[in-house]
Amino acid sequence: MSAEAQSIGNRKESFDSLLAAVQEIARKVAAVHAADVDAKARFPRETIDALKSARVLSAAIPRELGGAGCNMKELTALCSALSQACGSSGMVLAMHHIQVGCIARHGMGSPYLRRYMQELVEKQYLLGSMTSEVGTGGDTRSSICAVEVQGDRFKLNKDATTASYCEHADGILVTCRRAADSPASDQVLVLVKKGDYKLTQTTTWDTMGMRGTCSPGFKLESEGFADQVIPGAFADSSAQTMVPFSHILWASLWWGIAADAVARAARFVRAEARRKPGTVPPGALRLAEVSTQLQALRHNWFSLAAEFDEIDGRDDGMEELTSIGWALRMNNLKINASETAPQIVHKALQTIGVLGYKNDSPFSVARHYRDSLSAALMISNDRILSKSASMLLVFKDE
Ligand SMILES: Cc1cc2nc3c(=O)[nH]c(=O)nc-3n(C[C@H](O)[C@H](O)[C@H](O)COP(=O)(O)OP(=O)(O)OC[C@H]3O[C@@H](n4cnc5c(N)ncnc54)[C@H](O)[C@@H]3O)c2cc1C
Repeated sequence: MSAEAQSIGNRKESFDSLLAAVQEIARKVAAVHAADVDAKARFPRETIDALKSARVLSAAIPRELGGAGCNMKELTALCSALSQACGSSGMVLAMHHIQVGCIARHGMGSPYLRRYMQELVEKQYLLGSMTSEVGTGGDTRSSICAVEVQGDRFKLNKDATTASYCEHADGILVTCRRAADSPASDQVLVLVKKGDYKLTQTTTWDTMGMRGTCSPGFKLESEGFADQVIPGAFADSSAQTMVPFSHILWASLWWGIAADAVARAARFVRAEARRKPGTVPPGALRLAEVSTQLQALRHNWFSLAAEFDEIDGRDDGMEELTSIGWALRMNNLKINASETAPQIVHKALQTIGVLGYKNDSPFSVARHYRDSLSAALMISNDRILSKSASMLLVFKDE
C-alpha cells in the first residue's frame, strides 16, 4: 500500500471513530439532557464534557499538531449528528469548530499559535466568539473596539451584544480594529485566554430557542501577548474561513434539527399505520413531501462542503475562497438553509398534529421549531441579501 493510501486509511479510521463517539454522545447524553437544557436555558455541560473526553474539540486541528485534521465534510457530519439530539449542543460544537478553524488555517506560521493548538488538543479547550458589538450589531465586517498593542502585550475591551457560552469557554476569538487609528473595516482577530479576561454580563438570554447556547451580551476587558493576534487581515480570514465554516456548519446543524423533526413525524405516521392496518395514514403524503425538502437541504450543504474541501486542496484555493462567486454561493446556502429548516419543521408539525405541538409528548417538535427560527437571525438574512444584491450588480457567472 502506498504511503498516501495508508495515510487516507488511518485518517478514515480516526474520523470514523470520532463520528461513532459523537453519535453515541448524541444518543446517550445530548438527547437525554436536551429538554432540561432548553427549559432552564442552561449550558449543555454534560454533552460538552463528553465531547472533551472523546477528544472531539480538536477535530479541526491539523494532524501534525495532534488533532484529527477533519475536513469540512467530516466536520459537518459531527455537527449534524449532534444537532439531531440537541440543537444548542450542535451549535456550540459548530461555533467552536469555526474558531478553531480560524486559528488552524491562519495561525500555522506562528510558533505561539502552534503551541496553543497543541495545548488545545491536550486540554480540549472550548472556544467562543465575539463578532457582534454594540453599535455595529450583526455587521461582522466592521468594529468599533480596537486592540492596543504595546511592546509584546495587548489590551482589548469590547461591548458584545451576543456572545454564546463565553462564560463556559476557555478562550474567545474577538474581532476588533487593528489599531486605535484604523478604520472600522481594518480588522484583526484576537485570541483572548481564560484568566486574562473579565466578562461583565450586560443583557439576558431568555429566548425562544437555542436557549442552551447561553448567549447574553458581555463587556469584555482583556489583555495578553501580541502573539495572540491572528496573523493577517480579518478581511481574509473572514472570507477564507469564518464565513465558509459558519455557513456550511450552521446549515448542517440546522438540517440536523429539521431531520430529527421529520424522524418524529415518520415515527408518528408509522404508529398510525400500525393502528389501522391496510390503510395509508393521511400524514404519509405530507411526510413524503417534506422528505424531498429535507433531502434537497442536505444536498445543498453537503455539496458545498465537498466543494470547499476540493477548492481548499488547490494551490490557488485561498484566492478562490475570496472570489465573489464563492461569497455568493455561501450567502445563498445560508439564506436557503435558514429559511428551509423552519419550513421543514413546520411541515413535520402539521404531519403530527397536536402531539407535535405539546411540549411533553414524545412526538413534540416544539424545541426544534423554536431552535430553527434563530437561523434567519444569526447574521440577519436581510443583511446577507443586501450584500448579495450589491455583488450581483458586478458578478458575471461564466
Ligand atoms: C443563537 C445565536 C447565537 C449567537 N452567538 C453569537 C456569538 O457567539 N458571538 C457573536 O458575536 N454573536 C452571536 N450572535 C449574534 C449574531 O451573530 C448577530 O449579530 C445577531 O443575531 C444580529 O442581531 P440583530 O438582528 O439585532 O442585529 P442586526 O444584524 O443589526 O439586524 C437588525 C435588523 O436590521 C435589519 N438590517 C440590518 N442591516 C441591514 C441591511 N444592511 N440590510 C437590510 N436590513 C438590515 C435586519 O433585517 C434586522 O431585522 C448569535 C445570535 C444567535 C441568534
